[in-house]
Amino acid sequence: MLAEPLAPESKTGTPEAGDDVLLRVNGLKTRFNQDGRVVTAVDGVTFDVRRGETLAIVGESGSGKSVTAMSILRLIPSPPGEITDGEILFNGKDILAMNDEEIRQMRGSDIAMIFQEPMTSMNPVLTIGRQLSEPMEVHNKGSRRSLREKCAELLRKVRIPDPESRLDAYPHQLSGGMRQRAMIAMGLACTPKLIIADEPTTALDVTVQAQILELLKDLTREHNSSMILITHDLGVVARYATRINVMYAGRIVEQGTSSEIFKDPRHPYTLGLMASIPRLDQPKGGRLIPINGQPPDLANLPKGCPFHPRCPYARDLCREERPPLTQVAGEHWKACWIDVKEVHANA
Ligand code: SF4
Repeated sequence: MLAEPLAPESKTGTPEAGDDVLLRVNGLKTRFNQDGRVVTAVDGVTFDVRRGETLAIVGESGSGKSVTAMSILRLIPSPPGEITDGEILFNGKDILAMNDEEIRQMRGSDIAMIFQEPMTSMNPVLTIGRQLSEPMEVHNKGSRRSLREKCAELLRKVRIPDPESRLDAYPHQLSGGMRQRAMIAMGLACTPKLIIADEPTTALDVTVQAQILELLKDLTREHNSSMILITHDLGVVARYATRINVMYAGRIVEQGTSSEIFKDPRHPYTLGLMASIPRLDQPKGGRLIPINGQPPDLANLPKGCPFHPRCPYARDLCREERPPLTQVAGEHWKACWIDVKEVHANA
């Protein structure tokens, strides 16, 4: 049986995770103390990642998606950051209760992270081969000689031409697309069960973006790995994600399968994200509509629904009370007081 998502506001304890659940994030809260201001970057987030699936976390900058990912890997710098509540169960084991050695084993071996800009996360003075073999050495995956062969094989897998000679190249000697492929190879080095890809293609041009996403899809399928795909671009998600979490101001505001979210979006913010991406079925000359306004200051959220200053559907209740996450149908949940479908039907 598939585990049902919980409404953060209705959290009453830890539900049993089914066998198909690889990662369960339950009521996660992460905050930062910045010059005496408390910024709640993740505020009671609950979701599951199932074995072999790709879950997308979508939202603008500052919505909490990257902080959620960093919290899963316990990479939040403390101070100023702090995970103040919740649990993160990986294969049933609470990551927040792990000691330093268990965390070290888990990173790279069980969960790998692929970052947005390889130049900032790769070591510029080490060759690609050295950076590829390092995680395998840490996790005792073979002798130096056999590791070199494995590294070349990994580069071949991510479709880097002439992999043997690339092992001796430095990051700056590769193109942006090649560096991102090498970064993916590093993430895959220890065949992790979960890959967290944080905006993996944002810095690349559109053609290379598509190639990298296809590659990630093929590789996760081949290894039956799960993936959390973090992106601000709902357009990227349609083709690759099984399920979607839409985040705003540190909370999940809509959650569902890709088909539920794309065919029947129920949160005005999701509708806004959709209107701001180009679509193939869009009439010729149709305009893209950006979402008005700016994301809120997380240290000073407006009363009520945090989206109300930007929401075209806002009404009095929205300015007073924060809406809980409630079930629409099936796996589809939304945090909004109104039924946008009904509003459109009556318009
Ligand atoms: Fe808009 Fe109100 Fe829904 Fe918030 S609760 S998204 S302000 S309609």
